[in-house]
Amino acid sequence: MAERPSTPPRAMRSAGKLPPNPLTPEQVRRMEEARLRAKAAAQQAQASKPTPAPVAGTKRAYSAINSSNTPAQLRNANAASPAKRDQNGFIPPPANDLIQPAKNFGRSEYIEYDFSKMTDTKGGFLSTNDDPHNRAMWNGNKEEEKPPNMTLAEWERERIRRKLREARTGIYEPGLSILNQADGRDEEEDALLKAAQEEPGEVYKGTYGDGKRDIKGKCRECGSLEIDWKWQDGFHIGICHACKDKFPDKYSLLTKTEAKEDYLLTDPELKDESILPHLERPNPHKSNWQNMQLFLRLQVEHYAFSAAKWGSSAALDEEYEKRQKASKEKKEKKFSKKLKELKKRTRVEAYKRSRQEGGAEGATMSAFGQRIHGLGDHVHEWGRSVLDQETGLSRKRCEECGMEVEELEF
Ligand SMILES: [Zn+2]
Ligand SMILES: [Zn+2]
Repeated sequence: MAERPSTPPRAMRSAGKLPPNPLTPEQVRRMEEARLRAKAAAQQAQASKPTPAPVAGTKRAYSAINSSNTPAQLRNANAASPAKRDQNGFIPPPANDLIQPAKNFGRSEYIEYDFSKMTDTKGGFLSTNDDPHNRAMWNGNKEEEKPPNMTLAEWERERIRRKLREARTGIYEPGLSILNQADGRDEEEDALLKAAQEEPGEVYKGTYGDGKRDIKGKCRECGSLEIDWKWQDGFHIGICHACKDKFPDKYSLLTKTEAKEDYLLTDPELKDESILPHLERPNPHKSNWQNMQLFLRLQVEHYAFSAAKWGSSAALDEEYEKRQKASKEKKEKKFSKKLKELKKRTRVEAYKRSRQEGGAEGATMSAFGQRIHGLGDHVHEWGRSVLDQETGLSRKRCEECGMEVEELEF
């Protein structure tokens, strides 16, 4: 049988003899001294050897770039204590005890922020949380807060559901059923038809004077049941989306400003829901401005042309012309008044100028090219000659510019 592999016996200093006594501390010290001396000698020999001149294209010797032979005047903290090899011959990284972390950031001072316990201060701005009763901070209608027991996803779903319910679309659109045909609506229609037939001489006009029957839940143009329920609730008019697009002269929406300017309606009239109902939309320019109010053109026109307001579209046009004329006249009046003032002012200035000149008496305007004081060509106006006693010359002076000339008198 082959020899079973086994752990070799412990190496002995000398076979067959008992292991020697452990080294005494004195022996250890002497061995270490000898080792260090030999090492120092080896290093000296290495240092004294002249470094070979570098040959181009060859690698430099490690000693040529080693920090151990850096010049003594080099001010380098690392070089101050030359790298020492440890017992394995490796150079340990320099222990840089000169650089230490700042006290404020010492490990024990480390602060860990618990973000779940921190409050969002919104960058220091006031929010609806700080001042819940301040209407100015609501954008249109108050933004509802997420209930704490809901997850974000649930809250998002709930908000979509609410939006749909408000618009009466999606799952909240009233269902179409054959059963609905039997109740209320058809009876209503029958009653209306009967009422229309009872007056044979008159043409059926309908609520808005266009001969269409308004039956709740039915398109007044095509009779479709797929109407816009938001309009049914808001404007009390049944209209389907297709017919809305087909008749923009009836079913387009007007802003409050348009209703006011184009149909000359007043604020109280537009505010009265019983006269003109409206839908509200968030303001497209700024979310925190007042909601946009939208009116249905059919209803606005019906009211504006009714006897309660202007009577007819011709009367409205007349009124419009009248107002335009009045505002134009007002503008013209204002303009002519301004012009008059301006003319007055320039006339006063011209008068002042001519007075300064001294030439013309009164308010005659100075004409172009006339001499203006201190400007233009100067003609000397010589005064009386005065005889200078000392020089015997006569001297005269210009009245205007003060120039003096001497002349000999014969
Ligand atoms: Zn329709
Ligand atoms: Zn002069």
